[in-house]
Amino acid sequence: MRKKDNRVLFLPLGGSGEIGMNLNLYGHKGQWLMVDCGMMFADDYTPGVDLIFPDPSFIEDESDRLVGLMVTHGHEDHIGAIPHLWSRFKCPIYATAFTAEMIRGKLQEAGIEDEVILHIVEAHEDIEVGPFSVRYIPLAHSIAEGNGLAIKTEKGTLFHTGDWKLDDDPLIGPACPSEALTSLGDEGVLALIGDSTNVFNPAESGSEATVRENLIKVVQDMDNRVVITTFASNVARLDTIGAVAKATGRSLALIGRSMQRIYNVGKSTGYLGDLPPLVDEEHIADIPRDKILIACTGCQGESRAAMARIARGEHKNVQLSPGDNVLFSSKIIPGNDLTLGHLFNTLAASKINVITEKDAPIHVSGHPGQPELARLYDWVRPKMLFPVHGEVRHLMKHAEFARSLAIEHTLVPANGDIIEISSTGLKKIDEVPVGRLALDGKIIVSIDDIAITERRRSSLSGFVTISLVFDDNGALAAEPAMALMGLPSRDPELFYDEMLAELEAAIDRMARKGRLSDKDVEEVSRITIRRFCRKTNGKNPGVATLITRQEYIDFR
Ligand SMILES: [Zn+2]
Ligand SMILES: [Zn+2]
Repeated sequence: MRKKDNRVLFLPLGGSGEIGMNLNLYGHKGQWLMVDCGMMFADDYTPGVDLIFPDPSFIEDESDRLVGLMVTHGHEDHIGAIPHLWSRFKCPIYATAFTAEMIRGKLQEAGIEDEVILHIVEAHEDIEVGPFSVRYIPLAHSIAEGNGLAIKTEKGTLFHTGDWKLDDDPLIGPACPSEALTSLGDEGVLALIGDSTNVFNPAESGSEATVRENLIKVVQDMDNRVVITTFASNVARLDTIGAVAKATGRSLALIGRSMQRIYNVGKSTGYLGDLPPLVDEEHIADIPRDKILIACTGCQGESRAAMARIARGEHKNVQLSPGDNVLFSSKIIPGNDLTLGHLFNTLAASKINVITEKDAPIHVSGHPGQPELARLYDWVRPKMLFPVHGEVRHLMKHAEFARSLAIEHTLVPANGDIIEISSTGLKKIDEVPVGRLALDGKIIVSIDDIAITERRRSSLSGFVTISLVFDDNGALAAEPAMALMGLPSRDPELFYDEMLAELEAAIDRMARKGRLSDKDVEEVSRITIRRFCRKTNGKNPGVATLITRQEYIDFR
């Protein structure tokens, strides 16, 4: 891409084909603009790994052409990879105040706060970044300061929605800014790049204000302690929980590290001013059961978060008794059903009342349903549309839905696709290698890293380590030693002895030349152990063979 090249390009490195780890690039006149740099949580496929990032290798190589990272909002799937990946591409970061504060906390933790230029931007102002002019347009979402980005280029304006919904009464931030969007539409929008998360929802997402009314109604009728768990980053919901405490005459306590962090960030950026004074964690037990409201983290059942610890009776300062109430003011994210089911059962076994969004309307989503998509597209009137922020099925449905609204061109992108956006349409012109990285302990590795593969294998199939000592003639100089891990047997001692006998026999059967070759010995050991295990207990373990040759040993 040269300076004179005034094509407009779109290249997602993450988030197109998955919900999580968003990383998008826009190219124009030889420069790149990054939008968001998020992570996602790992699953059982990568045992021992917590976080997954998009592989930024492409932009790492092009980092001298990268003019900036524009962050739409402060959710982890949009900012979570910044502290881990920033040093690979090093560019200035732009965000509104609340989001910037969230990012700053992460940079501090990573110890790179002083290296990063972090610009705080105002909404509705044009920011010149290289060949791009970017304007933040506030949109409601399940966090403070959700923003869409109007990205102006010489070839036309792109509207990158970020995560959004329409809410006439979002409690925090401006009510749905149809005027800003209509005037953007009047100026002309070439392409819209938009949130596909809830495209299957035929209904509107609903308003934060109704959640407030409903939570007050539900809590009013409750005796004993009330615990409400929600996503800490939903500042409007935190504000609501404060309002519920006031309306029901209860004192409020916030439990959990991220609750505290969001409370501090919110306060320092002008939110949560109406929250009643907070009760210290240590003093919760002093307050009568029907006079306390506890807000805590862990609404997805995360085992280390406050909610799960409280449910297990392991929390230092919060103990629940039969007849107390726990409200999940949150969505059950697909994939977390089992963990949450377990948590609900733990609470039920202690005779604690559990109320979720299935029992009462105490949660609304932060993403647009079909009526909202239709309304926004009617204001913005984009000529073309890329669905992003979704799994493939979401993206396909979103493209189909856009076509039903007479949007002329749609194209479903995949991570790594370079797509040219021009007034005549959308065209995939190239692709770049993409992949996923994993934070494994303190080290970032490829998701296919041998360490993860080995761990997965041994966690499923067990592991056998063998130590063999040979004399200089290639004969076993001692009985092999073995360490077995994760292998089932009816009689462990017998199992060990039989495995040992098979191994010794297999090595004795080898020709002298083979026994003098480490490679051959390793192979025979592996094949023998696996064959024995498959036959005896049906497992196919990993095998490591440690070989000692006697010439290296000084027996004197
Ligand atoms: Zn979000
Ligand atoms: Zn998101």
